Amino acid sequence: MSVVSEKQVSHAAFRHVIPAGEPYLFEVKKGQTLRLLDLEGNQAVDTLFYNADNPRERYDPQRTLRRQNNAYLTTGSVLWSNMGNPLLTLVADTCSRHDTLGGACAQESNTVRYALDKRHMHSCRDNFLCACLHDGRLQKRDIGANINFFMNVPVTAQGGLTFEEGISAPGKYVELRAECNVIVLISNCPQLNNPCNGWNPTPAEVLIWN
Ligand SMILES: [Zn+2]
Repeated sequence: MSVVSEKQVSHAAFRHVIPAGEPYLFEVKKGQTLRLLDLEGNQAVDTLFYNADNPRERYDPQRTLRRQNNAYLTTGSVLWSNMGNPLLTLVADTCSRHDTLGGACAQESNTVRYALDKRHMHSCRDNFLCACLHDGRLQKRDIGANINFFMNVPVTAQGGLTFEEGISAPGKYVELRAECNVIVLISNCPQLNNPCNGWNPTPAEVLIWN
């Protein structure tokens, strides 16, 4: 459901632009509101969430989808953890399509889906691992199935998945209220072999309000 935020950009406590194709790891405190902003349109923002006070507690896609009985996320969706606690709640959304099933692009999937010579292209999984290594609190084992904000991956009638042209646009955003202290791990997807970034990866912005 499309819900516009009443938050003023000028009142944001923190702003950061993630360059096209780059990772970003940061924290949002309990009660703060996080906006992910698709600056130029059709940019997949691959995202994972962890409890900052216990990083072994992380976003659980199975529990989240089962509890809301819906494969997609939008306003009102609660992101549940693997320990059964709410991590964040979606409180505004002007895109209304966020993928929970497609996962992150990787060397392996680029090779299988496209061609052997795509193996060394930049990927979201590499981004996640680089950011984890740099931060130190997260490890390879913490990289689970992620959310792809702004990415259009319809489930077909046969139960398959297709990577379709995006339905996001410049300035579309999603807002999440943190229900605990949260580590946010983002890969601003560098994928060039399918339309998830409109064949042209672009920057995305993070804004946080107290
Ligand atoms: Zn990707």
